Amino acid sequence: MAHKVALIPGDGIGPEITAAMRRVVDATGVEIEWNTVDAGAGVIEEYGTPLPQHVLDAVEDAKVAIKGPITTPVGTGFRSVNVALRKHFDLYSCVRPCLSQPGDGSRYEDVDLVIVRENTEDLYAGIEFDEGDPRVAEISRIVEESGRKTFRADSALSLKPISITGSQRIVEYAFEYARRCGRRKVTAVHKANIMKATDGMYLRIAREVAERYPDIEFNDKIVDATCMGLVQNPADFDVMVLPNLYGDIVSDLCAGLVGGLGMAPGANIGRDIAVFEATHGSAPDIAGKNIANPTAEILSAAMMLDHLGENVAAAAIRDAVRATLAEGAQVTGDVRRALTGSAEGAVGTQEYADAV
Ligand code: ATP
Ligand code: MG
Repeated sequence: MAHKVALIPGDGIGPEITAAMRRVVDATGVEIEWNTVDAGAGVIEEYGTPLPQHVLDAVEDAKVAIKGPITTPVGTGFRSVNVALRKHFDLYSCVRPCLSQPGDGSRYEDVDLVIVRENTEDLYAGIEFDEGDPRVAEISRIVEESGRKTFRADSALSLKPISITGSQRIVEYAFEYARRCGRRKVTAVHKANIMKATDGMYLRIAREVAERYPDIEFNDKIVDATCMGLVQNPADFDVMVLPNLYGDIVSDLCAGLVGGLGMAPGANIGRDIAVFEATHGSAPDIAGKNIANPTAEILSAAMMLDHLGENVAAAAIRDAVRATLAEGAQVTGDVRRALTGSAEGAVGTQEYADAV
């Protein structure tokens, strides 16, 4: 029976890399009933929103979606469509594996780590107050009255909610993932020495959850030290579990360890819905030129096939990507540049997909 998948091409380089991804997936012979639906700036005029109801319905119906990146234009009053999708379906786990490939153009050969990023809380919850909002002065006064050091009344404020529930389920997800995928260690990343309430609680919960998984090694690391450690010796890391903001930043850092944003796949997983997408954004600077690297999107599709139980096809895609990069004759400009300092001799997005 064909698997139902909702396909959201997105904007910027989205349509190009999702077209490339789809050809690669279709070449595996796995039967997929693609339901293509559009979201983003291009549909606002027709539907009055960048995320129309029928797109949500398509994802709900298929339970599995793969998407290209979507830019939300500044000043339209809409928050990120990517964030809205994660919120709507409560896709609380963002999983981003980073694996070295021969010929990926990076400085490292032995990176094999997985980022598990919390997707719904933290400073990205979007609870913000502009400077000049009278409530800011009021909060400042309340803090002062409580005898604590307060902040200037002309501040802008972003709240950082981190919950017990949210921390428990993301750390549990990381340990379950580690067990399922034969990983040996989970590292909780935080800044608990400074943010004692939020990150301190997150760390305490992580330690409690870790006790229930004695078969998996556990440690914790401060986020700044983590960044240095990743650059000096990325092979020290295995599964990392991070609150939303650190997870976002460290994801891009880790993408850089394995050849850049064009290489790093990802999945947003909830209780019964999963949305797969590359780590990178819509890269408007290179959109429409057939030069974007579709590897991240193609490897996201491999994660999706694993999720659908099509493990043979998923492995075939990973092997094909690895072989194409290792051979190095037909790679995109970003990889050529990393390898040789110039994009000369690169092939286009679709030609690379053909090679894969
Ligand atoms: P957004 O606002 O949607 O995040 P952005 O401008 O931040 O978009 P990103 O996709 O986050 O764009 O990437 C930053 C830069 O990295 C891009 O401008 C592009 O030059 C490069 N880049 C990102 N993805 C790819 C890719 N798949 N192939 C090649 N280069 C890429
Ligand atoms: Mg970006």
